[in-house]
Amino acid sequence: MKPRTKFQHKVVEASKKLPNLTPAQIRWAFTHVVEPIGRRTSKGEITCLDCGEVFHNTTKHKQCVCPHCGTKLLIEDTRKLNFKQREYAAYITTSDGLQVIRIFMVDYYAKIGKTPRYYLNEVMQRWIAPNGKFCTMARLRAWGTRYCDSWIYSSDLELRNETWAYGQIYTYDVYPRINLIPELKQHGCRKVLHDINTTDYFVALLMDNRAETLMKIGQEELLRHYLKRSGWNFDRYWPSIRIVARNGYIVKDASLWCDYLDALWELGKDLHSPKYVCPENLREEHDRYVVKLNRHREERRKAEREALILECEEAYQQAKARFFGLSFHDEKICIHVLESVREFFAEGEAMHHCVYSNGYYRKDDSLILSATIDGKRIETVEVSLSKLTVVQSRGVCNQNTQYHAQIIDLVNRNMSLIQERIVA
Ligand SMILES: [Zn+2]
Repeated sequence: MKPRTKFQHKVVEASKKLPNLTPAQIRWAFTHVVEPIGRRTSKGEITCLDCGEVFHNTTKHKQCVCPHCGTKLLIEDTRKLNFKQREYAAYITTSDGLQVIRIFMVDYYAKIGKTPRYYLNEVMQRWIAPNGKFCTMARLRAWGTRYCDSWIYSSDLELRNETWAYGQIYTYDVYPRINLIPELKQHGCRKVLHDINTTDYFVALLMDNRAETLMKIGQEELLRHYLKRSGWNFDRYWPSIRIVARNGYIVKDASLWCDYLDALWELGKDLHSPKYVCPENLREEHDRYVVKLNRHREERRKAEREALILECEEAYQQAKARFFGLSFHDEKICIHVLESVREFFAEGEAMHHCVYSNGYYRKDDSLILSATIDGKRIETVEVSLSKLTVVQSRGVCNQNTQYHAQIIDLVNRNMSLIQERIVA
């Protein structure tokens, strides 16, 4: 992509002037980003893949130092002969008043009996202006291969606009000595944040007042959470964050704290009160309020249900009052018409079926009856008023009972009683 804007032209020019990495920077990549291997056999003989010497070491630690060449080795207990590592390394520096994140691919190939090979290739640069504008210089990336991190080293490092393809690298190691533009320092930046895409972090500090504030008041965990969630719900948290800052309280577990605030909010607690928003033991208070919240939600559901029952009661009474009092029985089974929406609810709860939840009390053509033996519910019967037939009869959890046929027969034999009430 050809540079078009003034900023892009400036970046392309500045990029040409970036210095080579220093020997110390290169050494860091080859010793900290990739780790030279010490292969250990079952007898405890370690082969240093850097110098080829063999020594005895049975330490439980994951690393050891080669007594021959002094290299820090990562111990692998394996019979493998070939070793390969590929990692990202990032160097953070400045150039021409711009912030630069240089990203290198570090490749390590080692084989027992051979000299190891180390490679360092610059694959990408993110350039950030003091106003938060940024762009990407990168080599081409190979797609459609098994490794999504294959870069075409022979392609040119040039301006690329495919941010979707280049934006997602953020688990790289960052060289500990970093240079920052003065604007970033003024906005509270001193270091990079582990686990957070450094470009996103720098841009947020430069452009987003809230990110800058969180950094400046020392709420690093909240900032991390803020960036990870793209600020989601922080309008709600913000007044509480001010209180927290004023009280010198540091939020150590940001997701738990936000979760706790959500619970307080739903319970109608004062989110401006230090008593609530600066808990001494966050975990304990969080758990306590989650219990309260569940109880509160259960009560609210109950109240809503009661309101709905009351709301529907009158319509049901009007529609079906003419059938009330209707009942019939044989020597064992009693059948009666449900006379209120509340009775539908009780029937549905006791029988674990949907006579209430599916709103059968609202269905014009349906008459719902309950079949009982000695007062105990056995099945619930639906009769079609237009057809004067039994549509369904259901026991607990919609299962038929041993009385199923007998119940249907009893309803059918008394259908005339229902018909009489319709005609009347
Ligand atoms: Zn060695």
